[in-house]
Amino acid sequence: MPEVTPDENTFPSPLPLRTIAARQKGGKSMSQSKFCYFDNNATTRVAPEVVEAMLPFFTEHWGNPSSSYRFGHQLTKAIAAAREKVAALINADPNEIIFTSCGTESNNAAIHSALVTHPAKRHVVTTAVEHSANLKFGAHLKKLGFDVTLLPVESDGSLDIHLLEKAIRPDTAIVSVMWANNETGVIFPIEEIAAICRSKGVPFHTDAVQVPGKLKLDVKDIEVDFLSLSAHKLHAPKGIGALYIKHHTRYQPYIIGGGQERGRRGGTESVADIVGFGRAAELTLAHLKGETTRLRQLRDKLEHGILKTVPDTVRNGDREARLANTSNISFGGLEAGDILKGLDHVGICASSGSACTTGSLEPSHVLTAMGLSAARARGSIRFSLGRYSTEAEVEYLLEQLPPIIAELLRRGGVIIKS
Ligand code: PLP
Repeated sequence: MPEVTPDENTFPSPLPLRTIAARQKGGKSMSQSKFCYFDNNATTRVAPEVVEAMLPFFTEHWGNPSSSYRFGHQLTKAIAAAREKVAALINADPNEIIFTSCGTESNNAAIHSALVTHPAKRHVVTTAVEHSANLKFGAHLKKLGFDVTLLPVESDGSLDIHLLEKAIRPDTAIVSVMWANNETGVIFPIEEIAAICRSKGVPFHTDAVQVPGKLKLDVKDIEVDFLSLSAHKLHAPKGIGALYIKHHTRYQPYIIGGGQERGRRGGTESVADIVGFGRAAELTLAHLKGETTRLRQLRDKLEHGILKTVPDTVRNGDREARLANTSNISFGGLEAGDILKGLDHVGICASSGSACTTGSLEPSHVLTAMGLSAARARGSIRFSLGRYSTEAEVEYLLEQLPPIIAELLRRGGVIIKS
């Protein structure tokens, strides 16, 4: 059952989640969960195999990897093994990977390094739809006197790479473009962008945080100079990430300290998190084949179901060039916050890209960059599936959502008092 007390006067009663459990036929069981989770682009459940791999590093092998005695050396080996697994996820060499604290740090570190190693170049090219890990860092750089170009996107979320090509100048230190968008799932043509940057001799960074488990990542096929990963998007814990730095790329550390990560990132290594990240990378690679098709089928069922049964709904983002797990839908005449409260009431987790500032919803910068009106953008919800998503959960959503929307529309979209 959802851990919520349904209020009969507010919304139709939810289907008990045991009904969902009863419908789970052979699929992966979510019996431990008391809710239906459609927010895997925000974060993912830590896989039990990952927890198992990490536990000894809290209880037995808790030393400092920099120590000179054997108790420390074992940890160095565990970190090396994890580095190999994370490298294998993107077909990199292990010494091209540094562990960071998160995707945000990886993005900041890549851009920072390009600016510091090319001091005469003070221009950065990125897009208007990046994660705030890039956009807010860009705004910070502007305050410091750097020049940042934010490329616009088309109404389907795609990027005009001719504009990108034109935006690169002799003083461009780095181009940073995300591989796939966290709100819409729209995939950018990273291979073409990498080729343009290479032909112009400009370093290229891609934020690939949303990609593992959804697309094949191969840095030998697509030549990027820097690539960011975040463990909590692939069933590992929060607080650990990685930055791929291609061989021979000039690099200056972002966090300076004790010389860890071969002098490229200071700070005592979080060994358990690194081990967990390694195990998660291994599982992600093993699951990739077949998982994308399964996710796409589930996502399409969810998306078609909503578009067919709920009036005035529109999908945001290109239909094809999109991550298999993501669906972003605008609900006409409604505020996402109201819909999310209604869903939460029946034990369903989803999200909107809108930020809540001073009590009102700011429309998502991604959707407004795609040309959606502020009202449409404010009424948009992202559903993102993952390894543990099941068909029964999608069916539950499709049963619960239409009456919630009908009720909200009947009330003129009035915010539900919690
Ligand atoms: N980049 C993208 C595309 C993301 O979706 C996120 C997190 O949502 C990040 C970067 C930031 O990652 P982290 O939460 O590990 O800092």
